[in-house]
Amino acid sequence: MAKKFQTIRGMNDLLPADAPYWQLLESACRSAARQYAYQEIRFPIIESTGLFKRTVGEQTDIVEKEMYTFDDRNGDSLSMRPEGTAGCVRAALQAGLLYNQRQRLWYLGPMFRHERPQKGRYRQFHQFGMEAFGFASPAVEVEQLLAVKTIFTELGLLGKVSLQINSLGSAASRQSYREALVAYLGQYKADLDEDSLRRLDSNPLRILDSKNPALADIIQAAPAMIDYLDSESEAHFKQLCQLLDAVGLQYQVNPAIVRGLDYYCHTVYEWVTDELGAQGTVCAGGRYNGLVEQLGGKPSFAVGFAMGLERLVLLLRAQRNCEQNVDVYLVVADGAQGRALQVSSQLRSQLPDLIVQMDASGASLKSQFKSAAKAAARYAVIIADDELQNETLTVKNLTSSDQQQGQSLQQVIALLQ
Ligand code: ATP
Ligand code: MG
Repeated sequence: MAKKFQTIRGMNDLLPADAPYWQLLESACRSAARQYAYQEIRFPIIESTGLFKRTVGEQTDIVEKEMYTFDDRNGDSLSMRPEGTAGCVRAALQAGLLYNQRQRLWYLGPMFRHERPQKGRYRQFHQFGMEAFGFASPAVEVEQLLAVKTIFTELGLLGKVSLQINSLGSAASRQSYREALVAYLGQYKADLDEDSLRRLDSNPLRILDSKNPALADIIQAAPAMIDYLDSESEAHFKQLCQLLDAVGLQYQVNPAIVRGLDYYCHTVYEWVTDELGAQGTVCAGGRYNGLVEQLGGKPSFAVGFAMGLERLVLLLRAQRNCEQNVDVYLVVADGAQGRALQVSSQLRSQLPDLIVQMDASGASLKSQFKSAAKAAARYAVIIADDELQNETLTVKNLTSSDQQQGQSLQQVIALLQ
């Protein structure tokens, strides 16, 4: 027998039973983006490796350990995108969208990270993200947080998530914090792991993002960025909190949130749930004012988030049953298929919201009724020999077993409406 191929580890097929959850989630994301006047942008899955090194950061876990990087046939180093912000900014800059303009953009698609696969953590996963450019005020952070809240509310998940916020301050205030942090961590050199020792000089803030449990206590007791904010950063954070209060968005300040990417400043936040174990963060974002300039654009304010869709599907599946049930099932006698095709297309064009399935098996009527039950259809429209001869239809309500014979197409449509 021929060898059967399998998916690559950590990359999943999306099977028909999963699809309705994804459709529900994606449509909630799309409709919130539309309501908030964000425009869709799509950019390639593969970019120059340098793009991610420069934005996500050379000394982050993502770039050091998780990126799918390979040489193109002509020797250029390419990477599969591990997140969306870098590509979004690159694309917007390339098209001149950020030149003296404000923009509100969103994207949805697959991302790739070579991580250890487990529940809620995969090597191909999907993110929905919103990015706004040109806005200095924390009102835009709050606007995006409200859009996320709209999505959670629409999905019935608001009760399962909570919002945690923090500030990473301005570049200047991070400098004085960095000194305090290095001095503190310097006392524990003997306890730090190899990664952390290397980052102590180059990127000490990254040590706070370490997932090594042996370092948890040291990190827990480290000085907190939020105590080192300069007056500008403090004002931004204070205003953020006031706006959150004004719109009634509940939050907790968590000084431990630092985010695994280098580009953030000022606001950072995570929406977390306690129903997914260690994979509890379902949405993460904040402000990244320096990034546009870092990619060769004019300095530009920027705010965004990314939502992990697999984790939300896990939450959705735990709380509701989502199936795509057939509304109308056509039971068709041998020789009636031509008429059945006509009837079913008229039903579809006049009742576009209904799911209409025609039995094309050529099996006995009895076995067709079994298939209708298996599809959990609500109604059967029957075209047996009599109906074919009289040019009528029979409708059967499959929940109550009520049946009406001798119906015209218009009568059937009126009944199904
Ligand atoms: P984590 O701490 O869980 O590794 P992260 O900080 O690496 O998350 P971000 O880069 O901020 O995650 O990505 C935003 C969101 O994307 C995460 O909050 C999560 O919901 C989702 N996400 C990130 N990595 C994965 C993955 N490997 N599999 C599934 N979802 C993921
Ligand atoms: Mg990660």
